[in-house]
Amino acid sequence: MSISHCPSCLKPGYTEFCNLCRKKLFGGKKVSPILPFSRPEYNHRRVEHGDRISISGVQSKYSLKLLGTVLELTETGGEYILKPFVPGELENMSSMPANEHITMQMARRIFGLDIAENALVFFSDDKTPAYLTKRFDVLANGTKIQQEDFAQISRTKPPWPLIYLKRTLKRKVIKQTDFTPATTFLNLENESKFQRAD
Ligand SMILES: [Zn+2]
Repeated sequence: MSISHCPSCLKPGYTEFCNLCRKKLFGGKKVSPILPFSRPEYNHRRVEHGDRISISGVQSKYSLKLLGTVLELTETGGEYILKPFVPGELENMSSMPANEHITMQMARRIFGLDIAENALVFFSDDKTPAYLTKRFDVLANGTKIQQEDFAQISRTKPPWPLIYLKRTLKRKVIKQTDFTPATTFLNLENESKFQRAD
């Protein structure tokens, strides 16, 4: 695997995070997009301690803390959330992290939404990708800010918000843009089709 674009903003010509993304994601610290642990080590930690972390959702995920310049798995005081793909029977499961990443980048650049900082990072052994997002509901001193999503406010159960999102995206995005499948970005070797909005 070779990285030729910033793994966060996908700006070409970078083999690691660009300075702007480094500042937004890690307070300027030089953090490698290659995680300091392997996928088997992640799986082992999740089996051992997965029930101790409280992050909502069904997808495999774990909390990370930045210690110096190293992202480490943690059960308490998480500053980031790591979401690797879940091997399964459906097709293209390994594209899940890239799909979430490009969707979030599109939300910012095409729709101008204020999104959580995010990036792709890679396991140390086989370099498979995982989605990384910085928590916006935790202050620097560790205080948690209560969050509610629209499904909770409207007392509606998923999956209808997801169906609505799919319809909206299909209508507003896919028909109007030269859309590059998220899988293209897994090897990070192609020119980004998206231009920065700023
Ligand atoms: Zn960047």
